[in-house]
Amino acid sequence: MIGAVIAAAGKGLRAGFEKNKLLMPLGEKTVLEETVRVFSESGLFDEIVIVASETDEREIQSLFPALKTVRGGATRTQSVLNGLRASRADIVLVHDGARPYVTKEILSDCIESVKKYGSGIAAYPAKDTVARAKNEKITEICGKENIYILQTPQGFYREELLEAYEKAPGEYPDESSLFAAGSRTPRLCKGSPQNCKLTFREDFGFPFRVGNGYDTHPLVQGRDLILCGVKIPHDKGLLGHSDADAPAHALTDALLSAAGLRDIGTYFPDTDEKYKGANSLELLRKTLELVKEQGYVPENASVTILAQRPKLAPYIEQMRRNLANVLAIPVSFVGISATTTEKLGFIGREEGIASYASVLLKKNS
Ligand code: MG
Repeated sequence: MIGAVIAAAGKGLRAGFEKNKLLMPLGEKTVLEETVRVFSESGLFDEIVIVASETDEREIQSLFPALKTVRGGATRTQSVLNGLRASRADIVLVHDGARPYVTKEILSDCIESVKKYGSGIAAYPAKDTVARAKNEKITEICGKENIYILQTPQGFYREELLEAYEKAPGEYPDESSLFAAGSRTPRLCKGSPQNCKLTFREDFGFPFRVGNGYDTHPLVQGRDLILCGVKIPHDKGLLGHSDADAPAHALTDALLSAAGLRDIGTYFPDTDEKYKGANSLELLRKTLELVKEQGYVPENASVTILAQRPKLAPYIEQMRRNLANVLAIPVSFVGISATTTEKLGFIGREEGIASYASVLLKKNS
Protein backbone atom coordinates (compact mmCIF):
# COMPACT_ATOMS: atom_id res chain seq x y z
CA MET A 1 0.00 0.00 0.00
CA ILE A 2 1.33 3.40 -1.00
CA GLY A 3 0.53 6.55 0.92
CA ALA A 4 1.40 10.20 1.12
CA VAL A 5 1.88 12.46 4.12
CA ILE A 6 1.44 16.08 3.11
CA ALA A 7 2.97 18.55 5.54
CA ALA A 8 0.64 21.54 5.88
CA ALA A 9 1.01 22.34 9.56
CA GLY A 10 3.46 25.24 9.23
CA LYS A 11 2.43 28.82 9.72
CA GLY A 12 3.84 29.89 6.37
CA LEU A 13 4.31 33.39 7.73
CA ARG A 14 7.40 34.30 5.72
CA ALA A 15 5.09 34.85 2.76
CA GLY A 16 3.66 37.79 4.70
CA PHE A 17 -0.01 36.86 4.31
CA GLU A 18 -2.46 37.09 7.17
CA LYS A 19 -3.05 33.37 7.10
CA ASN A 20 -1.19 30.18 6.24
CA LYS A 21 0.19 30.59 2.71
CA LEU A 22 -1.07 27.11 1.85
CA LEU A 23 -4.62 28.40 2.12
CA MET A 24 -3.96 31.36 -0.19
CA PRO A 25 -5.19 31.17 -3.78
CA LEU A 26 -2.92 29.97 -6.56
CA GLY A 27 -5.01 30.40 -9.67
CA GLU A 28 -8.54 29.26 -8.93
CA LYS A 29 -7.78 27.03 -5.94
CA THR A 30 -5.62 27.19 -2.85
CA VAL A 31 -1.97 26.16 -2.91
CA LEU A 32 -2.75 23.09 -0.80
CA GLU A 33 -5.60 22.00 -3.09
CA GLU A 34 -3.27 22.25 -6.10
CA THR A 35 -0.66 20.14 -4.33
CA VAL A 36 -3.15 17.50 -3.21
CA ARG A 37 -4.74 17.43 -6.68
CA VAL A 38 -1.47 16.22 -8.24
CA PHE A 39 -1.34 13.35 -5.74
CA SER A 40 -5.01 12.40 -6.20
CA GLU A 41 -5.00 12.65 -9.99
CA SER A 42 -1.76 10.65 -10.29
CA GLY A 43 -3.67 7.52 -9.30
CA LEU A 44 -0.50 6.30 -7.55
CA PHE A 45 -1.73 6.57 -3.94
CA ASP A 46 -4.02 4.40 -1.86
CA GLU A 47 -4.06 6.88 0.98
CA ILE A 48 -3.34 10.59 1.52
CA VAL A 49 -2.84 12.02 5.02
CA ILE A 50 -2.69 15.79 5.50
CA VAL A 51 -1.02 17.20 8.59
CA ALA A 52 -2.65 20.46 9.68
CA SER A 53 -2.07 22.91 12.52
CA GLU A 54 -4.71 23.43 15.15
CA THR A 55 -5.54 26.82 13.59
CA ASP A 56 -6.13 25.47 10.08
CA GLU A 57 -7.41 21.98 10.89
CA ARG A 58 -11.10 22.74 10.36
CA GLU A 59 -10.60 24.66 7.13
CA ILE A 60 -8.33 21.94 5.73
CA GLN A 61 -10.77 19.21 6.74
CA SER A 62 -13.56 21.03 4.92
CA LEU A 63 -11.41 21.33 1.77
CA PHE A 64 -10.67 17.59 1.74
CA PRO A 65 -13.62 15.80 3.36
CA ALA A 66 -12.58 12.46 1.83
CA LEU A 67 -8.98 12.55 3.11
CA LYS A 68 -7.52 11.90 6.52
CA THR A 69 -6.42 15.06 8.37
CA VAL A 70 -4.26 14.85 11.50
CA ARG A 71 -3.08 17.53 13.88
CA GLY A 72 0.57 18.60 13.55
CA GLY A 73 3.13 18.97 16.32
CA ALA A 74 5.35 21.83 17.43
CA THR A 75 7.89 21.28 14.64
CA ARG A 76 8.00 19.81 11.17
CA THR A 77 9.72 16.67 12.45
CA GLN A 78 6.93 16.14 15.00
CA SER A 79 4.19 16.96 12.51
CA VAL A 80 5.45 14.40 10.00
CA LEU A 81 5.66 11.82 12.80
CA ASN A 82 1.97 12.38 13.56
CA GLY A 83 1.22 11.88 9.88
CA LEU A 84 3.25 8.65 9.74
CA ARG A 85 1.46 7.30 12.80
CA ALA A 86 -1.92 7.99 11.23
CA SER A 87 -0.86 6.29 7.99
CA ARG A 88 -1.36 2.62 7.25
CA ALA A 89 0.79 2.60 4.12
CA ASP A 90 3.90 0.44 3.60
CA ILE A 91 5.61 3.00 1.41
CA VAL A 92 5.05 6.62 2.29
CA LEU A 93 6.01 9.80 0.42
CA VAL A 94 6.39 12.87 2.62
CA HIS A 95 5.70 16.08 0.68
CA ASP A 96 5.58 19.79 1.43
CA GLY A 97 2.10 21.22 0.99
CA ALA A 98 3.84 24.29 -0.46
CA ARG A 99 5.15 22.43 -3.54
CA PRO A 100 2.17 22.45 -5.90
CA TYR A 101 4.27 22.05 -9.06
CA VAL A 102 5.27 18.47 -8.29
CA THR A 103 4.48 16.16 -11.20
CA LYS A 104 3.20 12.60 -11.56
CA GLU A 105 6.58 11.70 -13.07
CA ILE A 106 8.43 12.92 -9.96
CA LEU A 107 6.02 11.03 -7.68
CA SER A 108 6.29 7.78 -9.61
CA ASP A 109 10.09 8.03 -9.81
CA CYS A 110 10.17 8.51 -6.03
CA ILE A 111 7.98 5.43 -5.46
CA GLU A 112 10.15 3.33 -7.82
CA SER A 113 13.27 4.47 -5.96
CA VAL A 114 11.79 3.34 -2.62
CA LYS A 115 10.87 -0.03 -4.11
CA LYS A 116 14.35 -0.52 -5.58
CA TYR A 117 16.64 1.16 -3.07
CA GLY A 118 14.64 1.71 0.10
CA SER A 119 14.30 5.48 -0.25
CA GLY A 120 13.89 8.27 -2.77
CA ILE A 121 14.74 11.92 -2.16
CA ALA A 122 13.66 14.26 -4.95
CA ALA A 123 16.67 16.34 -5.93
CA TYR A 124 18.34 18.10 -8.82
CA PRO A 125 22.00 19.06 -9.42
CA ALA A 126 23.05 22.51 -8.20
CA LYS A 127 23.52 24.92 -11.09
CA ASP A 128 25.49 27.44 -9.07
CA THR A 129 28.37 27.03 -6.67
CA VAL A 130 27.16 26.37 -3.15
CA ALA A 131 28.95 27.78 -0.10
CA ARG A 132 28.50 27.63 3.65
CA ALA A 133 28.78 31.03 5.33
CA LYS A 134 28.48 32.54 8.77
CA ASN A 135 27.92 36.27 9.35
CA GLU A 136 28.33 36.73 5.61
CA LYS A 137 31.81 35.18 5.74
CA ILE A 138 32.27 32.09 3.62
CA THR A 139 33.51 29.23 5.76
CA GLU A 140 33.34 26.50 3.16
CA ILE A 141 32.95 26.42 -0.60
CA CYS A 142 31.16 23.23 -1.46
CA GLY A 143 31.39 23.74 -5.23
CA LYS A 144 28.70 22.40 -7.50
CA GLU A 145 30.15 19.05 -8.55
CA ASN A 146 28.17 16.31 -6.81
CA ILE A 147 26.05 18.93 -5.04
CA TYR A 148 22.29 18.45 -5.14
CA ILE A 149 19.35 20.58 -4.08
CA LEU A 150 16.97 18.45 -2.00
CA GLN A 151 13.23 18.82 -2.26
CA THR A 152 10.21 16.73 -1.49
CA PRO A 153 8.70 14.20 -2.13
CA GLN A 154 10.93 12.09 0.10
CA GLY A 155 9.84 8.47 0.08
CA PHE A 156 10.60 5.64 2.50
CA TYR A 157 9.24 2.40 3.86
CA ARG A 158 7.11 3.81 6.66
CA GLU A 159 8.42 1.34 9.26
CA GLU A 160 12.03 2.27 8.45
CA LEU A 161 11.37 5.98 8.78
CA LEU A 162 9.60 5.37 12.11
CA GLU A 163 12.66 3.37 13.23
CA ALA A 164 14.85 6.37 12.42
CA TYR A 165 12.62 8.50 14.67
CA GLU A 166 13.35 6.10 17.54
CA LYS A 167 17.06 5.72 16.81
CA ALA A 168 17.86 9.39 16.30
CA PRO A 169 15.43 11.63 18.17
CA GLY A 170 15.83 15.32 17.44
CA GLU A 171 14.70 18.01 15.03
CA TYR A 172 15.64 17.81 11.36
CA PRO A 173 15.13 20.08 8.36
CA ASP A 174 13.68 17.19 6.38
CA GLU A 175 13.13 13.46 6.45
CA SER A 176 16.30 12.61 4.52
CA SER A 177 18.41 14.08 7.36
CA LEU A 178 16.44 12.08 9.90
CA PHE A 179 16.77 8.92 7.83
CA ALA A 180 20.54 9.49 7.53
CA ALA A 181 20.81 10.18 11.28
CA GLY A 182 19.12 6.82 11.77
CA SER A 183 22.20 5.39 10.00
CA ARG A 184 20.64 4.66 6.66
CA THR A 185 21.77 6.13 3.35
CA PRO A 186 19.07 8.11 1.56
CA ARG A 187 18.99 7.73 -2.21
CA LEU A 188 18.40 10.54 -4.70
CA CYS A 189 15.58 10.41 -7.21
CA LYS A 190 14.23 12.77 -9.84
CA GLY A 191 13.49 16.33 -8.73
CA SER A 192 13.23 19.56 -10.69
CA PRO A 193 13.72 23.31 -10.22
CA GLN A 194 10.07 23.66 -11.28
CA ASN A 195 9.07 21.68 -8.20
CA CYS A 196 9.85 24.76 -6.12
CA LYS A 197 8.55 25.57 -2.69
CA LEU A 198 6.35 28.65 -2.48
CA THR A 199 7.97 30.61 0.33
CA PHE A 200 7.70 34.32 -0.34
CA ARG A 201 4.84 36.49 -1.49
CA GLU A 202 6.33 36.96 -4.95
CA ASP A 203 6.36 33.18 -5.44
CA PHE A 204 2.60 33.41 -5.69
CA GLY A 205 2.74 35.86 -8.56
CA PHE A 206 2.01 35.14 -12.18
CA PRO A 207 5.45 34.35 -13.63
CA PHE A 208 5.07 36.80 -16.55
CA ARG A 209 5.62 40.55 -16.90
CA VAL A 210 4.53 42.73 -19.79
CA GLY A 211 6.17 45.96 -20.96
CA ASN A 212 5.55 48.70 -23.53
CA GLY A 213 7.90 51.12 -25.24
CA TYR A 214 7.63 53.97 -27.72
CA ASP A 215 10.19 55.97 -29.66
CA THR A 216 10.38 58.48 -32.46
CA HIS A 217 13.24 60.13 -34.35
CA PRO A 218 13.25 62.86 -37.01
CA LEU A 219 13.99 61.98 -40.64
CA VAL A 220 16.79 64.11 -42.13
CA GLN A 221 19.05 64.18 -45.17
CA GLY A 222 22.53 62.75 -44.86
CA ARG A 223 21.82 60.00 -42.32
CA ASP A 224 21.46 56.22 -42.73
CA LEU A 225 18.02 54.77 -42.15
CA ILE A 226 18.49 51.88 -39.72
CA LEU A 227 15.46 50.00 -38.43
CA CYS A 228 15.90 46.89 -36.21
CA GLY A 229 19.53 46.78 -37.29
CA VAL A 230 18.73 46.74 -41.03
CA LYS A 231 20.18 49.51 -43.19
CA ILE A 232 17.41 50.49 -45.58
CA PRO A 233 18.10 52.39 -48.81
CA HIS A 234 16.30 55.75 -48.62
CA ASP A 235 16.97 59.41 -49.37
CA LYS A 236 16.73 60.27 -45.64
CA GLY A 237 17.75 58.68 -42.37
CA LEU A 238 16.86 59.02 -38.70
CA LEU A 239 18.64 61.61 -36.61
CA GLY A 240 19.87 60.78 -33.13
CA HIS A 241 22.88 60.45 -30.87
CA SER A 242 23.10 56.71 -31.57
CA ASP A 243 22.15 55.14 -34.89
CA ALA A 244 18.58 56.34 -34.04
CA ASP A 245 17.05 52.92 -34.59
CA ALA A 246 13.58 53.85 -33.29
CA PRO A 247 12.02 50.33 -33.15
CA ALA A 248 15.12 48.96 -31.38
CA HIS A 249 14.81 51.82 -28.86
CA ALA A 250 11.08 51.18 -28.37
CA LEU A 251 11.82 47.50 -27.74
CA THR A 252 14.64 48.40 -25.35
CA ASP A 253 12.24 50.54 -23.33
CA ALA A 254 9.62 47.78 -23.41
CA LEU A 255 12.14 45.32 -21.93
CA LEU A 256 13.27 47.75 -19.25
CA SER A 257 9.70 48.65 -18.37
CA ALA A 258 8.60 45.02 -18.12
CA ALA A 259 11.51 44.31 -15.77
CA GLY A 260 10.56 47.29 -13.59
CA LEU A 261 13.71 49.19 -14.56
CA ARG A 262 14.15 52.82 -15.61
CA ASP A 263 14.13 53.95 -19.25
CA ILE A 264 16.72 53.73 -22.02
CA GLY A 265 18.09 57.24 -21.36
CA THR A 266 18.98 56.23 -17.80
CA TYR A 267 21.21 53.36 -18.92
CA PHE A 268 22.47 54.75 -22.23
CA PRO A 269 22.40 58.57 -21.91
CA ASP A 270 22.62 60.56 -25.15
CA THR A 271 25.10 62.84 -23.39
CA ASP A 272 27.61 59.99 -23.16
CA GLU A 273 30.19 60.02 -25.97
CA LYS A 274 30.36 56.24 -25.65
CA TYR A 275 26.95 55.93 -27.28
CA LYS A 276 27.59 58.34 -30.16
CA GLY A 277 26.63 56.48 -33.31
CA ALA A 278 26.04 53.36 -31.21
CA ASN A 279 24.57 50.26 -32.78
CA SER A 280 21.21 50.08 -31.03
CA LEU A 281 21.11 46.28 -31.26
CA GLU A 282 24.17 46.33 -28.99
CA LEU A 283 22.23 48.47 -26.52
CA LEU A 284 19.39 45.98 -26.79
CA ARG A 285 21.85 43.17 -26.04
CA LYS A 286 23.09 45.00 -22.93
CA THR A 287 19.50 45.63 -21.88
CA LEU A 288 18.77 41.92 -22.09
CA GLU A 289 21.54 41.35 -19.53
CA LEU A 290 19.91 43.89 -17.19
CA VAL A 291 16.60 42.11 -17.59
CA LYS A 292 18.22 38.74 -16.87
CA GLU A 293 19.70 40.17 -13.68
CA GLN A 294 16.11 40.80 -12.58
CA GLY A 295 15.41 37.10 -13.10
CA TYR A 296 13.46 37.38 -16.36
CA VAL A 297 13.93 36.42 -20.00
CA PRO A 298 11.83 37.45 -23.02
CA GLU A 299 9.06 35.14 -24.16
CA ASN A 300 7.98 37.10 -27.24
CA ALA A 301 8.14 40.60 -28.69
CA SER A 302 5.84 42.63 -30.89
CA VAL A 303 6.93 45.77 -32.73
CA THR A 304 4.99 48.28 -34.85
CA ILE A 305 6.83 50.74 -37.10
CA LEU A 306 5.03 53.85 -38.33
CA ALA A 307 6.59 55.25 -41.50
CA GLN A 308 5.04 56.89 -44.54
CA ARG A 309 8.00 55.93 -46.72
CA PRO A 310 9.95 53.84 -47.69
CA LYS A 311 8.09 50.53 -48.07
CA LEU A 312 9.40 48.30 -45.31
CA ALA A 313 7.90 44.96 -46.36
CA PRO A 314 11.09 43.67 -48.08
CA TYR A 315 13.11 44.17 -44.88
CA ILE A 316 10.73 42.81 -42.25
CA GLU A 317 12.10 39.24 -42.24
CA GLN A 318 15.68 40.43 -41.71
CA MET A 319 14.48 42.74 -38.92
CA ARG A 320 12.71 39.82 -37.22
CA ARG A 321 15.85 37.68 -37.46
CA ASN A 322 17.97 40.48 -35.99
CA LEU A 323 15.69 41.00 -32.99
CA ALA A 324 15.19 37.26 -32.42
CA ASN A 325 18.95 36.79 -32.48
CA VAL A 326 19.55 39.44 -29.83
CA LEU A 327 16.63 38.37 -27.62
CA ALA A 328 17.60 34.69 -28.00
CA ILE A 329 14.07 33.64 -28.92
CA PRO A 330 12.73 31.95 -32.08
CA VAL A 331 12.03 34.21 -35.07
CA SER A 332 8.40 33.13 -34.92
CA PHE A 333 8.20 34.80 -31.48
CA VAL A 334 9.04 38.20 -32.92
CA GLY A 335 6.25 40.04 -34.70
CA ILE A 336 6.94 43.21 -36.68
CA SER A 337 4.27 45.18 -38.47
CA ALA A 338 4.76 48.31 -40.55
CA THR A 339 2.14 50.92 -41.27
CA THR A 340 1.87 54.35 -42.83
CA THR A 341 -0.28 56.99 -41.17
CA GLU A 342 -2.19 57.73 -44.40
CA LYS A 343 -0.13 60.91 -44.81
CA LEU A 344 -1.45 62.28 -41.51
CA GLY A 345 0.70 64.08 -38.97
CA PHE A 346 4.49 64.35 -38.79
CA ILE A 347 4.91 60.74 -39.86
CA GLY A 348 2.63 61.29 -42.86
CA ARG A 349 4.64 64.38 -43.80
CA GLU A 350 7.78 62.19 -43.65
CA GLU A 351 9.29 64.32 -40.91
CA GLY A 352 9.92 61.31 -38.70
CA ILE A 353 9.44 57.64 -37.99
CA ALA A 354 7.92 56.22 -34.79
CA SER A 355 7.68 52.81 -33.26
CA TYR A 356 5.75 50.98 -30.56
CA ALA A 357 6.95 47.77 -28.93
CA SER A 358 5.54 45.29 -26.44
CA VAL A 359 7.36 42.45 -24.81
CA LEU A 360 6.41 39.57 -22.56
CA LEU A 361 8.99 38.45 -20.02
CA LYS A 362 8.85 35.18 -18.15
CA LYS A 363 10.54 34.22 -14.91
CA ASN A 364 13.87 32.60 -15.62
CA SER A 365 13.66 29.50 -13.44
MG1 MG B 1 15.48 56.85 -29.48
